[in-house]
Amino acid sequence: MMVKKGLLERLAEGPVVGDGSYVFTMEKRGYVMAGQWTPEVVIEHPEAVKQLHREYLRAGADILQAYTFFASDDKLNLPGHAAGKITTCKELNERAIDIVREVAGDADVLISGGVTMTPSYKQGKGKEAVQAEYRKHAEVFIEKDVDFLLAEFINQIEEAEWAIKVLKSTGKPVACTMCIGPTGDFVDVPAGECAVRMAKAGADVVGLNCQFDPNSGLKTMKLMKEALEKEGLSPFLMMQPLGFFCPEVENEHPGYAMLPECPFALEPRLLTRFDANRYARAAYELGVRYIGGCCGFEPHHIRAISEELSPERGGKLGEASSKHIPWGEALKTSTFLQNRMKATQEHWKTVKPASGRPGHPALQPKLMGQ
Ligand SMILES: [Zn+2]
Repeated sequence: MMVKKGLLERLAEGPVVGDGSYVFTMEKRGYVMAGQWTPEVVIEHPEAVKQLHREYLRAGADILQAYTFFASDDKLNLPGHAAGKITTCKELNERAIDIVREVAGDADVLISGGVTMTPSYKQGKGKEAVQAEYRKHAEVFIEKDVDFLLAEFINQIEEAEWAIKVLKSTGKPVACTMCIGPTGDFVDVPAGECAVRMAKAGADVVGLNCQFDPNSGLKTMKLMKEALEKEGLSPFLMMQPLGFFCPEVENEHPGYAMLPECPFALEPRLLTRFDANRYARAAYELGVRYIGGCCGFEPHHIRAISEELSPERGGKLGEASSKHIPWGEALKTSTFLQNRMKATQEHWKTVKPASGRPGHPALQPKLMGQ
C-alpha cells in the first residue's frame, strides 16, 4: 500500500491544489436548500456527493474536503431548519467522511474534515458552548482518521481561535481560513492581525475562503503575509476565494452577500477557466501554497488551477486534462472556421467576455443594506 505524503510535507514541496464549491454547486444541482445550506444531502443523496467529489478528483485536486459544512448540531437545529429533525452532527460527519473516503480510494489525494462558524458564537453563548460544538465534529474526524482538519468560513478571529484550539488538540495538521476581506474581520480586527492570531493559536496553514473574489482575496492574503512576516511567523498560506467577481463588496464585511444578485443570479460574474489560470498563478507568486476555490468554483476551474501549476508540481495533472488542451488549442480541429480562428493562446489571453445582457450594469450601483 502506498504511503501518502501528509499535507504539510506536500505544502513544503510545492503548490497543493484544493477542490471547489460543494454546497453552492449542490444547490444548483437540486440537492441542497438555499438559506439553510445544511449538509443532509450526504444522507439523502450520497451518490450526488460522490459524483462531485469524483469530478474534483478528476480535475486534479490534491484534497477532497468531506462534506461537513454547517453540520454542527446548533446549526442543524436552528428554527425552521429541516436537518435537525432527521440527523445529527455526528451522523452527518460520519457519512460525509465515509463518502469521501470511498471516492478517494487509493488515489494520491488527502481528505479533510471541516468545521464552520457556529450559531452559538453569534448568539453569544460563549467559549465553552462553541467549543463543545466543534468537539463533536473533531471526535468523528479522529475516529474516522481524516488526513487533516480545516476550520473555514469563520468571520471573527475569536471564534477562529476557539476552533483552532479544539482541532489542534487532536494532533492532526490544522488549516484555518476566514471569510474576510482586506478590511478585516466582522468586528474590524485587521486581516493581518487575524492571520497572526490564527498562527499563534496553532494553525499550520492560514488564509481565507469565500465571500470575496480572487482579486480582493489576493489583497487580503498580501496583508496577512506581511503581518506574519513582521511577527516572524511562517505558517503555510491558503486561499479558496469565490468563483464570482464582485469588486463592489471588497471593503464590506459581509462580502458578496451584499450583492442584490447573490446567491441566485450570480452567473454573469462567474470566473472563466482562464480567470482561474490567472488567479492560480498570482496566488502562487504571492507565496500561497494551498490554492483552491469556494462557492462558484466548479471542476473546470480546479482543472485550470491544476494545469496552471502543473510545471511546479512535476507535471502532475488530473485525468480530466486528457480532455482539455489549455488555452484553446483543442479548437484547431473544429469544423467551424470561426472556432479554428480562436485556437490560439493570444485569443484566450486577451478576450474580454461580454455578459450579453442589454441594460445591465457592469457593477451594482447600490448594495443590499447600504
Ligand atoms: Zn463559499
